[in-house]
Amino acid sequence: MSLTDADRVLIDEASAAIARRYRNDWQEVGAALLTRTGRRYVAVNLDAYLGRMAVCAEAVALGQVITELGDAGIDTIVAVRHPKPHETDREIRVVSPCGACRELIWDYDRQARVLVPGPEGVVAVTISELLPNKYSRERVL
Ligand SMILES: [Zn+2]
Repeated sequence: MSLTDADRVLIDEASAAIARRYRNDWQEVGAALLTRTGRRYVAVNLDAYLGRMAVCAEAVALGQVITELGDAGIDTIVAVRHPKPHETDREIRVVSPCGACRELIWDYDRQARVLVPGPEGVVAVTISELLPNKYSRERVL
C-alpha cells in the first residue's frame, strides 16, 4: 500500500515527538497512532534501569487511546527511531514494530495498518502481514 497524506502526518508527528523528547538510552523511539475515529496520538518510549519495565512508544500511544477514548481501534500506527549521538546517519527513520508490539497491535485491531521501512522507502502493511500465523485461542486465518 502506498502512503497517504495522513500517513505522512503521522510520521512527521512521531518524528517531532522524539526530536523534542530524545534522551540517549532513555527515549529513542517515537510513535504516532491514528484511531478509527480520526484522532491522532503521539508518544515516546519509556526505557528503564530494569529492562523488563521498559515500554515501547506504540504501547504508550495505545494506552493513551484506551484511557481517553476506550477501544477506538487502530487505523494506522508508526514508530520512528532517533539516532544515537555517535551515529553518522542523523535522520529520524521509520522502524518496524518489535514482536511484542506486533502482538499488542493485533490484539487491539486485527486490521490495523502499520507503516514500515521497505526497500524503496516507507510502505503501509497490515498487522496480519507482520504477524503471520499468530497464536490465538480462536481459529483465525
Ligand atoms: Zn515494541
